[in-house]
Amino acid sequence: MIINKSKYFPFVLNFKKIFQTSTHTLTERKGFIIWMIDEIGNVSYGECSPLPGLSKETIDETERNLIDVQKKLVGSAIQLELSTLTALLSELNMFPSLQFGIEQALLGLLIQRDENFIRNFFGEPKTVIEVNAIIGLGSTESVLSRIEEKFVNGYRTFKLKVGKDNFEEDFLLINKIREKFGDKIKLRLDANGKWNIDDALENLKRLEQFKIEYIEEPCGHLSCLLKLSAFSPIPLAADESLHTIDDALKIINESKIDFIVLKPIIIGGIISSFHLIKEAEKKNKKVVVSSAFESAVGRSALTFLASFTHHNFAHGLDTAEYIEKDLCTIAFEAKYGKINFNSKDYPPQFNLSLS
Ligand SMILES: [Mg+2]
Repeated sequence: MIINKSKYFPFVLNFKKIFQTSTHTLTERKGFIIWMIDEIGNVSYGECSPLPGLSKETIDETERNLIDVQKKLVGSAIQLELSTLTALLSELNMFPSLQFGIEQALLGLLIQRDENFIRNFFGEPKTVIEVNAIIGLGSTESVLSRIEEKFVNGYRTFKLKVGKDNFEEDFLLINKIREKFGDKIKLRLDANGKWNIDDALENLKRLEQFKIEYIEEPCGHLSCLLKLSAFSPIPLAADESLHTIDDALKIINESKIDFIVLKPIIIGGIISSFHLIKEAEKKNKKVVVSSAFESAVGRSALTFLASFTHHNFAHGLDTAEYIEKDLCTIAFEAKYGKINFNSKDYPPQFNLSLS
């Protein structure tokens, strides 16, 4: 396959509500859609959108990287298999978000060329992917009614933000949730690194009775999380303390941390994320594929990745509702707590109007 031409289009998506990371307040999501066409006229897209506060690269750096990489790729011959593609890409020195977008576009072309490409190089995808509902901060009444609303709509796994200044408020809220919903729902927590290690251990001991599926980032740094994992009464998940694929491999191979919340656009692309999923499986650890508020283009590749996990824990892919108006129709929409995935529909036909 030869890459005949490639272009890119900047985009801006507005959030419905302000989104707060530990360092940034975001009202919009900026990025680039990469467009490619091969020598027989197949067209493909990829999303490249670094997230301020979590990505190490800025949008301007990413654009320069993208221009440079496109120049190198146009005219390149690419074989219909994965290992030479990986080798070729490793020479291009791409930021993680660009790696994601370029891989998405190239894989999209390769999958169109060879109907057995997915099965030969990725395996058998699953057709139903569970997703969690995100429950933001709010009063007890608003949290309970949001869970109720999502429960009625088929959601069974709920992710609740914790880490209020007064831990008693977190505790009482979770107590109320369990009183109301009992074991009908699975509850996972995200503290976004709010506690120090001593408080984390104490708080987790108190929360143990609530059968928490896992807690993301109870304390701030990877080293702290690793220490805590030796004593934690609740399964732990690493999220924003992972900066690279190597960090994630360290967790898989050298720690008691059971869950990795993987944001492929932040830490390194699609192919290495796929390999990470497989490495985790060997050690009986779980990768939960998670959106960094990508557009429907990027999210489709996350759904593709999640389809290769062999566990039934919900993935963090239900972020469409945070975006005011998406770039195109949503190919694999979360409904009733699930995404139905048919690999024959991948890559989707995005009805993008780009200019
Ligand atoms: Mg998190």
